[in-house]
Amino acid sequence: MLSTMQDVPLLISRILAHGSTIHGDSQVTTWTGEAEPHRRSFAEIGVRAARLAHALRDALGVQQDERVATLMWNNSEHVEAYFAIPSMGAVLHTLNLRLPAEQLVFIVNHAADRVVLVNGTLLPLLAPLLPHLPTVEHVVVVGVGDRSALEGLDVRVHEYEELLEGRPGHYDWPELDERQAAAMCYTSGTTGEPKGVVYSHRSVYLHSMQVNMTESMGLTDHDTSLIVVPQFHVNAWGLPHATFMTGINMLMPDRFLQPAPLAEMIEREKPTHAAAVPTIWQGLLAEVTANPRDLTSMKHVTIGGAACPPSLMEAYDKLGVRLCHAWGMTETSPLGTMAHPPAGLTAEEEWPYRITQGRFPAGVEARLIGPAGDVLPWDGESAGELEVRGNWIAAAYYGGASGEPLRPEDKFSADGWLKTGDVGVISADGFLTLTDRAKDVIKSGGEWISSVELENALMAHPEVAEAAVVAVPDEKWGERPLATVVLKEGATADFAGLRAFLAQSIAKWQLPERWTIVETVPKTSVGKFDKKVIRKQYADGDLDVTTLA
Ligand code: AMP
Repeated sequence: MLSTMQDVPLLISRILAHGSTIHGDSQVTTWTGEAEPHRRSFAEIGVRAARLAHALRDALGVQQDERVATLMWNNSEHVEAYFAIPSMGAVLHTLNLRLPAEQLVFIVNHAADRVVLVNGTLLPLLAPLLPHLPTVEHVVVVGVGDRSALEGLDVRVHEYEELLEGRPGHYDWPELDERQAAAMCYTSGTTGEPKGVVYSHRSVYLHSMQVNMTESMGLTDHDTSLIVVPQFHVNAWGLPHATFMTGINMLMPDRFLQPAPLAEMIEREKPTHAAAVPTIWQGLLAEVTANPRDLTSMKHVTIGGAACPPSLMEAYDKLGVRLCHAWGMTETSPLGTMAHPPAGLTAEEEWPYRITQGRFPAGVEARLIGPAGDVLPWDGESAGELEVRGNWIAAAYYGGASGEPLRPEDKFSADGWLKTGDVGVISADGFLTLTDRAKDVIKSGGEWISSVELENALMAHPEVAEAAVVAVPDEKWGERPLATVVLKEGATADFAGLRAFLAQSIAKWQLPERWTIVETVPKTSVGKFDKKVIRKQYADGDLDVTTLA
């Protein structure tokens, strides 16, 4: 028997309509680097999104399902694109502006983007690529920046504001199939070619509701969220969509992502929430330690994308800012877990929960798969690869314009679960603790050593700014850990001392023999430790390694 309920498609245009009317006074504030930031209300964004959709359809001829790319910072125009492009039935393709040129070329060609919206300040990045992007017919330039890089190129160039001018502020958004493609995002491609995840209207809608749950980010129109996580990194973790559901004000840093302007933004605009990867919070901590600022408006901060060292959480606790750990992936939209401790605990009792990756919300099912392919118990001890499934989790990758969706065996199980490549344990009450990426685990004499555990312990040392641990080949043990350490300013290297410090919390057989000091840990395009670069530096003999007896 079927239900008697209405079946209204879950569409992004509905989120836009809701946010721009019911929460029309909420604001997107974009940092400009000048005395005053730029402010635009949700109501204005609704009107401008309609104008953009008219422009894309009527002036540029964008049809349903065609890909419209953005190469943009976090700002209000990017929010307009987030809503206009999928709502009109086209597909928003956010481009990661930190990727190497050849990967960007691959991605744009693979997605067959027809239009690119680009911030003027990013033209020096886009212009040299354009001769290699045969599908791109139109470039729409947004905001300040020198246009000269585009001169002489075989592409039609438009000014964003001119394109919008005079167009109707209302659009009859089509009643699409909710399973239709709304947005796409390519994974950073640490191995092999980047792979495209295609989100549907339905998955975005449901994920946004999840972001807004109290046990998730739980924000309202009383809040302002500083969205540092780039809009090209898994839809800024779903925040731009979620904000239009509940009226959360957005504070957008545009290109001002350095610690000093971020600290100034927080002190002046007083966001109550923020979201970014650990590297950003490490940088900000160093900044406010040197030049104190009041960060206490931020009631809580969502930190994820890479493991958050407990020492970082402690440091922010002392500043009156609570970091809340989250785990997710491009393939999971991204929110997969969030670490809110259960009710009724003291601060001390909460701590072991806070340093996990968090609990699975309704909508994300999880299982751990052991080395023999068996499903492991949730006992907080049995370690295996995490697999997940749910309404906002990818079932395949984009196969290109004419190809079938791709379901590589190492990413999707035969029964349809996503293989995350993350290794960890789950407690009986559903808290996930990740010990490593499967490919980063150090396999020493048949036993596994967690690189993340060693890194967290090292980063708790008062003289260590950052530390990354990777597996390196070892004749006797197969693999052993190599510790690469970034010291705080003025500190001197004492490897024996660091090892003795580790020995307080780590088993003796896991302690690294090989040590090296580096100026910075290499980072990926979204600010995570890039361990394959470290492994290569070691293999090429580029690191000055000390081996302790
Ligand atoms: P991406 O798709 O580029 O966002 O990368 C997803 C991967 O980042 C995950 O599979 C994890 O390996 C890693 N990751 C994300 N959040 C966390 C976290 N809180 N702790 C540890 N690793 C994380």
